[in-house]
Amino acid sequence: MSMGSHRQAVVAGAGIGGLIAALHLARAGFDVTIHERSPVLEEFGAGLQLSPNASRILGQFGIVETLGGLALEPEALVVRRARDGNTLLRMELGDTARRRWGAPYLVAHRGDLLRALLDRVAQEPAISIVLDSQVRGFAVDADERVRIGLKRGYVSLEVGADLLVGADGLRSAVRDRLGLGGPKDIVFSGNVAWRALIDAARLPPSLRKRETHLWLGPRAHLVHYPLRGGTVINAVLVVEDHRRDALKDAGWNNPGDPSVIGFEVADWAPEIREMIAAAEDWRGWPLFDRPPSPRWSSGPVTLLGDAAHPMAPFLAQGAAQAVEDAQALAVSLATHERIPDALQAYERARAPRAGRVQTEARKQAGFYHVRGPVALARDLGLRVMGPNRMAARYDWLYGA
Ligand SMILES: Cc1cc2nc3c(=O)[nH]c(=O)nc-3n(C[C@H](O)[C@H](O)[C@H](O)COP(=O)(O)OP(=O)(O)OC[C@H]3O[C@@H](n4cnc5c(N)ncnc54)[C@H](O)[C@@H]3O)c2cc1C
Repeated sequence: MSMGSHRQAVVAGAGIGGLIAALHLARAGFDVTIHERSPVLEEFGAGLQLSPNASRILGQFGIVETLGGLALEPEALVVRRARDGNTLLRMELGDTARRRWGAPYLVAHRGDLLRALLDRVAQEPAISIVLDSQVRGFAVDADERVRIGLKRGYVSLEVGADLLVGADGLRSAVRDRLGLGGPKDIVFSGNVAWRALIDAARLPPSLRKRETHLWLGPRAHLVHYPLRGGTVINAVLVVEDHRRDALKDAGWNNPGDPSVIGFEVADWAPEIREMIAAAEDWRGWPLFDRPPSPRWSSGPVTLLGDAAHPMAPFLAQGAAQAVEDAQALAVSLATHERIPDALQAYERARAPRAGRVQTEARKQAGFYHVRGPVALARDLGLRVMGPNRMAARYDWLYGA
């Protein structure tokens, strides 16, 4: 640590994980520089569910207030059978969720959440963001300082810090340099998520409700909920992928042909076929994860968010777990003198839980996508379970 000044942290990546981590680190007394590879901060259009375990932490920084009317609190989660639209289960959210889990269950546009985080970061003099600056690697000196190699445009340079946090996403370079798996080691889930934002005015009232709907079909499921005061509906159709190789290396944001996507739901209730046809722009994300890892850190270097625990989105927890990481990291740094000790404590506190979420998220696809008699049994099981037992199944995840 340099005498008489604050400790310095470098965060790789200005995604949701990197931004919330920077806020926590600044509050813990660090000077923070975020290096973001992109020359602009992208706000690609898609919704995010912010479960109570995340909204509780975001609330501490006034992020939920900043989001204001842009975040929406669905009244219920409604599970429906794709074939005929019958409701299998309805679990109240809204006030019921606040009472049960102590914080709201929200949905928001990812771009709106990023903007709210950036507004908050802008008010924090201890944080600066450098765009077009890629973290390439690092070396740790004998005094536990870390030297970070950056590439800015054509220029390579090095900066020093007391702490490096890799919040650089699924294909994390920091993770690769830690020897915990490179970009080539990510695991394709066999599913592609097609996402669209649909003008609510183009949809029937049954699809415009202030509710989250989960439709279960053979080898596919669809989630939709309203965003931005109900003016748009966010839809995510996850299908077991038939064109895996076509999408596998493309990363994300592949434009989709509505007629081809419509083919995936040809046997579904007419409402849903209407919804698929009403969307002007479908974008495809091949879904990857990694197996849980018990180690995220070495010396003064650690990982956070998707870099640490990329997961399938079927529990809607990727961003929420990054938010939990950031808080746990700050708590560990506040309670340990040496940064490497704090990072070990952070990893011990977080890796088992994040690993459980990764494992449960993988299992969820199997439960959603069954067909034939197994699907009949599942649907019956959901009806019998009812909302209270359903809510109890999420206590470990959403509760304080
Ligand atoms: C279909 C789908 C639906 C989802 N739904 C939900 C949901 O409802 N709720 C939820 O909580 N989560 C959801 N998620 C997951 C969530 O979007 C991610 O888990 C979360 O955004 C990860 O945040 P992050 O900051 O860790 O990574 P990212 O958002 O990937 O950010 C990483 C950042 O690092 C930058 N970067 C990369 N490499 C470098 C480098 N070498 N140097 C510097 N910068 C670098 C990138 O440009 C990027 O800005 C969903 C995901 C998908 C695919």
